[in-house]
Amino acid sequence: MTTVVASAVPIAISTRPRPPDGPPGAERSTATGAMPTTGPLVDPFGRAHDDLRISVTDRCNLRCTYCMPEEGMTFLPRTELLSFDEIVRVAGVARSLGVSSIRLTGGEPLVRRGLAGLVGRLATLGFEDLALTTNGMLLAGQAAALSDAGLHRVNISCDSLRAARFTAIRRHGDLATVLAAMDAAEDAGLHPVKVNVVLLRGQNDDEILDFAAFARETGRVVRFIEFMPLDAQGRWDRHQLVPGREVFDRISAAWPLEPADAVPGPAPAERFRFVDGVGEIGLISSVTQPFCGTCNRLRLTADGSIRNCLFSDDEHELTGLLRAGGTDDDVERHLRAAVWGKRAGHGINDPGFLRPARSMSMIGG
Ligand code: SAM
Repeated sequence: MTTVVASAVPIAISTRPRPPDGPPGAERSTATGAMPTTGPLVDPFGRAHDDLRISVTDRCNLRCTYCMPEEGMTFLPRTELLSFDEIVRVAGVARSLGVSSIRLTGGEPLVRRGLAGLVGRLATLGFEDLALTTNGMLLAGQAAALSDAGLHRVNISCDSLRAARFTAIRRHGDLATVLAAMDAAEDAGLHPVKVNVVLLRGQNDDEILDFAAFARETGRVVRFIEFMPLDAQGRWDRHQLVPGREVFDRISAAWPLEPADAVPGPAPAERFRFVDGVGEIGLISSVTQPFCGTCNRLRLTADGSIRNCLFSDDEHELTGLLRAGGTDDDVERHLRAAVWGKRAGHGINDPGFLRPARSMSMIGG
C-alpha cells in the first residue's frame, strides 16, 4: 500500500513568465514596427516560433465526449485536405525559417493512409523533433514503420485506466488496444511515450493517483490536461475542468514532486519528477495557468490554414496559394504574417472571451 506523506517541497507551479505586453488576453500588440522579412518567425512580443503542429486530417475513429458529438460531425471533403506534397512544402519553408519541431496530429493522424510516407519525407528535412499525437487505436500496427521512417516519439491519449470508463469517455475505443499501443511504441523505439489525460470533474478525476502510479510503474510521462473550451458541442464550462494546481497537490500528497530538469525551449507542460527519482508527470494548465508568454507554436490545419493560436480565429489560408503556383517566398510571407498577427494571450479568462469557431479536432490539437 502507498504511504501518504505531505509534500516536503513547497512549489509554485505558476512560475511561467507572463506575456511582455500584459496578461494573457491582452489586445493585439500595439507595436508599430514592421513585420520582419528575414530571420526567425517572431511575433510583435518577441516570441520566436519554432514549433509547428500539422493536422493531417480532421477525421477521427473515436468520438471523445469532450471533443466531438457521437453523431453529426461534418468532415472536410478529401479534396480540401492538403496533399502530402503540399504539407512537405510548407514544412520545408518553415524549416528554413527556424522551425525545429514538428508534431503531426488531427483528428486522428493514423486514419490518414500512408502517414509513414509523410513522416519519411519530413524526416529528410532535418527537424530536431518529429512527433505524433494519437489516440493509439491504430498505432500498434504502424509503430515500427513510423519509427523506421524517422518518427522520434509519440504522445498517446488515454483518459482512464478503467476499461468501461475509458470506452464511456472516448466512445468506440478500448483501453487494452491503447495500452498495447504504448508497448508497441516503446518496442519500436519511440521514446519517451507520453500519455495525455484530459481530466473531467466527476468523470475521471478520481484516477489522478492511479495515473501517477502508472507513470511511476511504467516510466511513461503522464500529462494531465485541463479541459479547454474547444469541444465541438460547445458544452465546456469552467466547473468541468480540474486545475493543474489541484492535480499537483493531490499527487504530491502521496508522492512528493519537484520540478524536473528543464529541457531547452518552451513547452506546454510544466514537468515534475517524483522526489524519489521514480518517474515524471506533466501539467498542461492552459486555462488556469496560461503559458502564452512563452508560446512558440503555430499550426497548419488539415485544410491548409496557418493559425497562430488554438483560440484565435485569425487564419492565413495557404491552400489557394499553393494550388495557384505560389512561390516559397509567398508561403514565407504568409507564415510571417500569421505569426506577426499573434495576440499576447489566448484570452480564455477574459470577460469577453468568445470560443473559436473551429473546435479542437478541426484545428489540430
Ligand atoms: N486523435 C489524436 C488524439 O486523440 O490524441 C490527436 C488529436 S486530439 C484533438 C489531441 C489532444 O487533444 C488529445 O490528447 C485530446 O485528448 C485533446 N483534446 C481534445 N479536445 C480537448 C479539449 N476540449 N480540451 C483539452 N484537450 C482536448
